[in-house]
Amino acid sequence: MNYKTALNNKIFEVISQASQELNVDSYVIGGFVRDLLLGRDFKKDIDIVAVGSGIELALKVSQLLPNKPKVQVFKTYGTAMLRFEDTEIEFVGARKESYQSDSRNPIVENGTLQDDQNRRDFTINALALSLNKDNYGALSDPFNGLDDLKNKIIKTPLDPDITFSDDPLRMLRGIRFANQLGFEIEENSLNSITKNAERIKIISGERIVDELNKILSTDKPSVGFLLLFKTGLLDIILPELTALNQVEEIEGHTHKNNFYHTLEVVDNICPNTDDVWLRWSALLHDIGKAPTKRFNKKQGWTFHGHEFLGGKMAKKIFERLHMPLNHKMKFVQKMVMMSSRPIVLSQETVTDSAVRRLVFDAGEDVENLMTLCEADITTKNPNKFKKYHKNFEIVRQKIVEVEERDQVRNFQPPITGEEIMEHFNIKPSREIGLLKEAIKEAILEGEIPNEYQAAYDFMLKKAEKIGLVKV
Ligand code: ATP
Ligand code: MG
Repeated sequence: MNYKTALNNKIFEVISQASQELNVDSYVIGGFVRDLLLGRDFKKDIDIVAVGSGIELALKVSQLLPNKPKVQVFKTYGTAMLRFEDTEIEFVGARKESYQSDSRNPIVENGTLQDDQNRRDFTINALALSLNKDNYGALSDPFNGLDDLKNKIIKTPLDPDITFSDDPLRMLRGIRFANQLGFEIEENSLNSITKNAERIKIISGERIVDELNKILSTDKPSVGFLLLFKTGLLDIILPELTALNQVEEIEGHTHKNNFYHTLEVVDNICPNTDDVWLRWSALLHDIGKAPTKRFNKKQGWTFHGHEFLGGKMAKKIFERLHMPLNHKMKFVQKMVMMSSRPIVLSQETVTDSAVRRLVFDAGEDVENLMTLCEADITTKNPNKFKKYHKNFEIVRQKIVEVEERDQVRNFQPPITGEEIMEHFNIKPSREIGLLKEAIKEAILEGEIPNEYQAAYDFMLKKAEKIGLVKV
């Protein structure tokens, strides 16, 4: 089969020209070819393999392009990258790799196209299209990757035990591709992941999280997480999650399986947000439940304080996996810690003051918190399902109403500490703190509106009560 017409990006002709001038063969390979044959959207990255020096080819291509783009050279890896229009083009020399057991960094030698295809992770990622003048557009498919594309199969080109053990990151990539593309992992390859799961320990947290983020960014992340779970990878990467996979019964009392519940919550939230951090919050929202689970005759199963502990555990996970310890981490932690607040609130009559407190504590993230709580409704009882959603709808409405009146989101006290000190002509003291707190409480409770004059009058009364007089 020839794919000449599909190679309609001008860059391919230029690479072909450059190859001819240097007298090296070159091919477009990997994700670009796979996605092209699948009819998927073009993701703006193209991988080129040169049977010779990838760096020299990149430099030649740059010379032939009208704007002579800068070539970024990575000497240690023998690769080079340049940008053409909005596409990143990566050049690598065809290579043969051999691995040692303690590292995913191979010993590299120059090789043929076939050697290079052997080192690819999956048959569908080893497909290459020729950019050579004599057979431009011809498909090279030594492992029947085309059939696997048609049959929706993820399969390693060589013995899976070798492919996965050489570079264990490929196990996560395989599961991620299965999830993203809606493919099945071929039985041998899947068994081999289970067998080699422990090898994932040599992979850095950053790489693992890259793949987890891609799984979380699919329409239905539960597919990927179930594969991670069944192969034993999840137990190693996120044991806090697999600890939720239990149902216990004492004296006829059971509790739900919080692992499967969590996966449902993650799937539920996907149509409502593309924010991967909110999706992380859904994934971690119940992790405090395994260590806080208790049974007593009066209440049955309880998980007291699981939100607070879960928030602390979330931070530890971020640290362990070398995730960013910045405002994103704080956001996830806050979502986990507040994850039960709207539920508690909606179970009773929704009072203005409770809503004001929710908005005060959640600040800018209150809508995200509501989105998380709505996704948390996984009851199979249609009446309860409807009722819970309706209650949250009421909470959302109240948030808008309360906001219009009192602006407690990003609360700024209507009277500052400085103003209080000036009025009473005193220095910073415990009394100032007391008055400020009392004013805030009165506003949240709805005793006074969030306005200067009302707060001023309230302050005078309160000051009199605690015996503070103007001097
Ligand atoms: P996507 O860009 O959608 O994540 P991709 O297949 O293009 O998918 P890249 O990480 O861009 O993935 O890698 C490009 C190509 O390099 C792959 O198609 C594959 O042939 C090869 N490759 C990448 N990572 C590995 C790996 N860990 N082991 C073997 N081959 C790999
Ligand atoms: Mg790619």
